[in-house]
Order: sequence, then C-alpha cells, then structure tokens
Amino acid sequence: MDAAEFEEFGPAPRHKTVGVLVGAADNGVFVGGDHPVVVQSMTNTDTADIDGTVAQVAALARAGSELVRITVDRDEAAAAVPHIRDALLARGVTVPLVGDFHYIGHKLLAEHPACAEALDKYRINPGNVGFREKRDRQFSAMIETALRYGKPVRIGVNWGSLDQELLTRLMDENAASATPKSARAVMHEAIVLSALLSAERAEAIGLPRDRIILSAKVSQVQDLISVYRMLARRSDHALHLGLTEAGMGSKGIVASTAGMAVLLQEGIGDTVRVSLTPEPGGDRTKEVQVAQEMLQTMGLRTFVPVVTACPGCGRTTSTVFQELARDIQDFIRDEMPVWRETYPGVEAMNVAVMGCIVNGPGESKHADIGISLPGTGEQPAAPVFIDGSKAMTLRGATIAADFKQIVIDYIERRFGQGTGADAAE
Ligand code: SF4
Repeated sequence: MDAAEFEEFGPAPRHKTVGVLVGAADNGVFVGGDHPVVVQSMTNTDTADIDGTVAQVAALARAGSELVRITVDRDEAAAAVPHIRDALLARGVTVPLVGDFHYIGHKLLAEHPACAEALDKYRINPGNVGFREKRDRQFSAMIETALRYGKPVRIGVNWGSLDQELLTRLMDENAASATPKSARAVMHEAIVLSALLSAERAEAIGLPRDRIILSAKVSQVQDLISVYRMLARRSDHALHLGLTEAGMGSKGIVASTAGMAVLLQEGIGDTVRVSLTPEPGGDRTKEVQVAQEMLQTMGLRTFVPVVTACPGCGRTTSTVFQELARDIQDFIRDEMPVWRETYPGVEAMNVAVMGCIVNGPGESKHADIGISLPGTGEQPAAPVFIDGSKAMTLRGATIAADFKQIVIDYIERRFGQGTGADAAE
C-alpha cells in the first residue's frame, strides 16, 4: 500500500482561541488557548435553596465538572450566591461558579455586590438584556461590573431568545437583496452576528478578549455545526459548545454528541456542556458523565478508565457477561473521585470484558487488563490478560468477584503512590 493512501489520524489542529481564566489564578480553570477542552454543567436547583444548590454543585464537581453554572434569576437567588460559595469552600469544593443571568442581570449584579464578587464568571444572553436603548445600557452595566470585579463573561446567544431587532433587520436586508438566502441561513447569520457584535461592544467598553467566551446555542445538530463553523472562521474568542434543549435520555445524548463531536474533530470548541433533560428525580451528574465520555472516546482527554465490552450475541446466553461489564464499569466510576487522588494516571487505564473466545482474547490482550468469559458451550474457564499476556485462568462461581479483585490489585500495583522506581530505592 502506498504511504499516501494512509488516512491522516486524529482531530484537526485546534482552532486558535484566546485563553480565558475562570476563577482564581491559583486554582481557576483555563478555557481556550492551548488548554484541554473543559467539561462544565449547570444545576437545576432553585439557587435560593442554599443547601440543595450546594449539594448539587458538590455532586457535579465530584463527578468531574470543572465549571458549574447556577441560575441567578431574582434577589433571593443573588443573595444566596455568596453563602453557596462559602458553604462549598467549607466542604473543600473550589469549582468555579458561573452565574446565569437573564432580563435583570444588570440590576441583580448592581444590588448584590457580594454575589458579583462570589461568582467566577457571568453568563450574559444578549437576546434578553432589554430592548432598544435599554439593551445597550443594561449590557454595558453588566460588562462594567465584570470589569470592576475582574471577572470574565460568556456572551451566550440562544436561538430561542435571539435578538429580534437584529433578526428582523437581517431578514429585511435579505428580502431586499438580489440574491436572497434561505431563512435558515439568515437565522444562522443573526445568531453569529449577535455574539460577535456583543463581544465587540464588550471590548469597546474595556473588557479584554481574554475575559470573553462566546457561545451560540441552537437545538438542531446541523444548525449547531454550521453556526460554530461560522463563529470559528470569524473570531478567535474561546468557544463554549452545547446543543440547547437536547432532550431526554438517548435522544439528548446522541444529538449532543453527534453535533459536538463533528466540531471537536474539526478542532472547534474549548468547553462543552451536554444539556440533558433528566428524568424526574434523575441524577444531574449524568450530563457530566456524557461530556467526559464524549471527550474520552474521541481521544481528546482522559477522565475515567475505559471499559471495553463486546455487545454480546447468541454466544453469550448467560447474564454473567453483562453483569460483570456493568459491575466493573459502575465500580470504576464510583471509585474514581478517590482514585483520581490516590492513583494518578489510572484514568488512562483500559479494561476489557469480553463475552467469548471469538474476539475475547484478542481484545483483552490490547487492554491493560482484560477477561474473556466463557461463551455458550465453551469450557467454563475465563482467561485473564494483564499487560498483553495471559496471566491466569479463572473458574467457578466466583469469576466476577475474582476478576474485580484482580483489577483492584493491578491498579494498586501500577498506579499506587510509592510504587515503581521510587519505591524500589
Ligand atoms: S466476543 Fe463473542 S460474545 Fe462478544 S460479540 Fe463477539 S462473538 Fe459475541
């Protein structure tokens, strides 16, 4: 085969953006520039409920959210923000907090200076900071507050609350054009222009580019790809990716990852949020898990050891295989907050749980540690492979428990502090 026939491997070079520090210089998070793509999330508690919000922010941070956004929609919420910050610090949670403002953000920030101070970033939606002359005045007031407190902002356009004056103007201009574009193309232009013009205004007021992040959220995958490509072509601001109103369950996960994966592959995107609608009473941290898995499966970051499992087929008629794959995956995810500290590097580990001899040994050899369970009609024996070589064969009713212990021992041996060369000295 000619060398020229080989495909280029991996994502396109990252679109160059200006990095933005969110949070304190000593423990903040950089978004953009050469920094890794950041995972963020948003609470769905009433921010005025201090205990509930603290618990959820802590859970999101524990799951791996590197920024957490909270709604600041009224006086009670704004008044709660500094208490939330203090309570989180008392629990050792230092995750940067982002305030989400709509309609009266200028007023809340002015009347609650402790809130303005406690937040690490303000999200401003240029489509609902007010109308006509009020819009510019209120937008400017929020930018001036950001300047006063040394905070970055995200100018977050959302097509559901798009600046209607701008959209109407562009629609009128398009209608009068000799070569009118589709209404969808005009809408894309209005979304992008709303973000870019707002960023320009913020910079004219004095907010430097390294304190401005842009987002332009839409709810359809093809619109998302188109809008962010346009933004990346026309600006070097750090970009926050997300599909708005992605939906529930698998629909939300598939739509979000389908859209964002295309952009990330093109090097576009500095921070991601997966906006999933949780089931009633469902776990909010699912959106963090999905964002991490998206970045990890694309090879962009590593967060949690990967469990590779075959889909199973007619050769796996018992449930042992599915149960072991699920057990190992849940176990790893549950332990990860502690392992992150005690076993540095463990997140890059790969565990294979395979259903039978067809692909089991081959896949297991490629993993750090893998097991090939017996398929239907095979000898009731499960070879275990460690670092590419067959290490042992498990038999009997305790295969699952034995394999879990082997994984734990492997992690301890390979990633435990004080192991390796240093420990030998
Ligand atoms: S490894 Fe075996 S059980 Fe798993 S999908 Fe392939 S043939 Fe089926």
